[in-house]
Amino acid sequence: MTNYCIYDCSFCVSRRSNDVQRAAFSVKEVVDLTMNFYRRNYIEGLFLSSGIFKSADYTMERLMLVVKKLRTEERFNGYIHLKAIPGASESLLKQAGLYVDRMSVNLEIPTEEGLKLVAPEKDHQSVREPLAIIKNEILNVQQHKRLLKNFRSLSPQAKVHRWSLGPHRRQTYRLCRPRMNSTKIISSSAFTIQVTSP
Ligand code: SF4
Repeated sequence: MTNYCIYDCSFCVSRRSNDVQRAAFSVKEVVDLTMNFYRRNYIEGLFLSSGIFKSADYTMERLMLVVKKLRTEERFNGYIHLKAIPGASESLLKQAGLYVDRMSVNLEIPTEEGLKLVAPEKDHQSVREPLAIIKNEILNVQQHKRLLKNFRSLSPQAKVHRWSLGPHRRQTYRLCRPRMNSTKIISSSAFTIQVTSP
């Protein structure tokens, strides 16, 4: 979104001390540009990254707004790879994660000592945190997918049943997906129902 940056990583062209022209796009400008290229078939996806404007959260919020707008307002169906901003809050990372195909974080240098040499204002802890959040969210999604798969395989023929019983005692019972060959007996003082799934 921008080559402005409050950090001074010696390997990066956008570093604070570098004498280059700076520019920044607004959320709307990035969305409009992306959609213009996408509609003309110039691009199939978006790789979105940014220098750090004012703070990690300020920047991450703008990145999140771009991907949210693309998916929910513009119906952008292309691939989105988003670079998470180290130090950004968990809630912003999770919100952004709802709209992207991939999220990653730059470790920059494998050792903490090496990182201090080239980017003294950064540390690996601020990278590990978003990585842990991304990992947890992936595990959550995988768990939900497994649960959904198990739920679907309970009984393909069993349906959601609803009965409205008795003209006077209008009682409604909803039975969700009884297991194969299972029998449920529901009774009240007025009646007894026996349900056997197919
Ligand atoms: S934080 Fe990122 S954009 Fe900023 S100087 Fe370092 S590597 Fe470059």
